[in-house]
Amino acid sequence: EIKKVSVLGLGRMGGALAAALVGEGHDVTVWNRTPKTLPGTKSAATPGEAFEAADVVVTCLSTHDVQQPLLSKNIKTLVNLTSGTPEQARATARWAQDNGVEYVDGVIMAVPQQIGTPGAKILYSGQREHHVLHAFGEPVHLGEDAGMAALHDLALLGVMWSAFAGYLQAVALLGTEGVTPQQFTPMAVEFLNEMGVLLPEMGEETRHRVYETDVSAVDINVSGLRMLADTAAQQGVDAALPEALHDLFRRAQQKGHGAHSIASVIEVIR
Ligand code: NDP
Repeated sequence: EIKKVSVLGLGRMGGALAAALVGEGHDVTVWNRTPKTLPGTKSAATPGEAFEAADVVVTCLSTHDVQQPLLSKNIKTLVNLTSGTPEQARATARWAQDNGVEYVDGVIMAVPQQIGTPGAKILYSGQREHHVLHAFGEPVHLGEDAGMAALHDLALLGVMWSAFAGYLQAVALLGTEGVTPQQFTPMAVEFLNEMGVLLPEMGEETRHRVYETDVSAVDINVSGLRMLADTAAQQGVDAALPEALHDLFRRAQQKGHGAHSIASVIEVIR
């Protein structure tokens, strides 16, 4: 079914979304603050013109704060793909309800180059699914609460930021002795994959709050993190990341979890 869809924001991601909609044969109108054209689409001079032209408005602007003043009750259905906090998503959901606008809140777990491929997951929450999401990737519903997509987005990105920062710390440390990323990266990839397999068991431990272990205790990890932070300092690279992890694990140790598994660190975090 061909839909009239408007896309607000033609940045890296918004441009990819609009192109995917054109690829699916939809009738697409675009609006961008800095005027831009995209093959196969009509350009609106104002957001209002883009709302008039469409049954569905997809937004993909840099932040919630930039987006909020542009919204209007002339929108019929809003598919919000601008990143934000759960509270911002819930506030937009309330605004939509008060103004008779149908609302779907989504987050994109992909880079622009993956849009339109099955590898792109579109997490969404709120009232209901909208079928335009299928043009972008595989929609994954996370319940009625409009804030849930944003909460999952930030949680998953937190895993990514921690892992990526750990990798960059390792590359910098090894670089002080002339080891190249090309030499080291295959080891890191293999190790990360092996560690990922341990998450289901760790998750279960946090659920039952039973942390007996014959694998690796917090005590030994505190010693290891001390060595990593000291080595970073000795090799002349930034030690903020290993120091922060050392501090976190040490607080778990002080709370009585020295003999417990790494999962017990959650007792300090939550
Ligand atoms: P870009 O920086 O490439 O694009 C930002 C867009 O926001 C542009 O269209 C820009 O317009 C517009 N914009 C910025 N400030 C204003 C303003 N004051 N008024 C009106 N429009 C404004 O960002 P991305 O496309 O990468 O990201 C867009 C959203 O998608 C973000 O919320 C991001 O978190 C999310 N996202 C991005 C991913 C990615 O890999 N890129 C992955 C997953 C989510 P102008 O061209 O005029 O500057």
